[in-house]
Amino acid sequence: MAKIAFFGLGNMGASMAKNLVKAQFNVTVFDLVGSQVELLAEAGATPSNSVKQAVESADIIISMLPAGKHVESLYFDQDGIVNNISAKSLFIDCSTIESSTAKSIGAQLQAHGHRFIDAPVSGGVAGAAAGTLTFIVGGEKVDFDEALGCLQAMGKNIFHAGGIGAGQVAKICNNMLLAILMAGTSEALQLGIDNGLDPKVMSDIMLQSSGRNWTLELYNPCPGVMANVPSSNDYQGGFLVDLMNKDLGLAMGTAANNQSVVPLGQLAKSLFQMHGNAGNGNLDFSSIFNAYKHG
Ligand code: NAD
Repeated sequence: MAKIAFFGLGNMGASMAKNLVKAQFNVTVFDLVGSQVELLAEAGATPSNSVKQAVESADIIISMLPAGKHVESLYFDQDGIVNNISAKSLFIDCSTIESSTAKSIGAQLQAHGHRFIDAPVSGGVAGAAAGTLTFIVGGEKVDFDEALGCLQAMGKNIFHAGGIGAGQVAKICNNMLLAILMAGTSEALQLGIDNGLDPKVMSDIMLQSSGRNWTLELYNPCPGVMANVPSSNDYQGGFLVDLMNKDLGLAMGTAANNQSVVPLGQLAKSLFQMHGNAGNGNLDFSSIFNAYKHG
């Protein structure tokens, strides 16, 4: 089986690496936080205390880092992967980063004889733990095929969106739409409430009418309408406002690069930014519902 070096053992990466170990892959791990490396060693991964040690004879490199600058630094710094790996490897970056950065990283790796796919995920911390993530991949088909085995150990739905960078574009298009749907659903529900309607009855009506959408079906933002969703748990857990703002920022950057017209995305970005700036960054993104409530 392929030997994997896994970098970035945070909220997402730790569970993803554990699932690779469970699937019998030979996994070496590295993170800047030593306690995270120890946690994975307890789960059966091989710990390493340097990038150089981690990449020794690795066939596949996986990274799950906060942002593009971290991925570039890990790959290309003097003490980074490219300067310390002898094999020609397949790099899989699962972080959510700018599509343009993914393309630039891919070109630089190819110049060194390596291969690269961008493989951002949807499904959050719960999906990472359960091994049910959706992977949205950009890259050559042959590299996608090579990555499939280890992606299937961490996820349930694996899509090939197109060439390098396409995974990132598809991911932020989806999340921009999700932000718009969540804000729109909150707005409609509050309009009904302001006019004396019961939000549960409103939700049932819209679910059987043309306003039906994912947030009404599975993630209702109004507390008490649906059990086992963040809105019924003080908006704890789920997908944080701060992370939605990061993805909306990436969407706006991508739009600016191509003169794409995204008025609803821009409005959603402003709404979620105001909401985050008001101290709600660590709440689930469905808490945007509170922004529509009367004071
Ligand atoms: P996180 O901050 O919890 O973890 C990132 C980890 O990377 C940290 O442990 C950090 O120490 C490590 N790291 C940073 N630089 C490093 C380096 N040079 N070498 C080794 N390790 C390094 O972040 P997360 O929540 O796991 O998210 C990771 C990525 O996944 C982000 O791009 C995020 O946007 C995306 N994402 C997150 C979620 C979610 O719900 N958390 C959902 C989908 C996508």
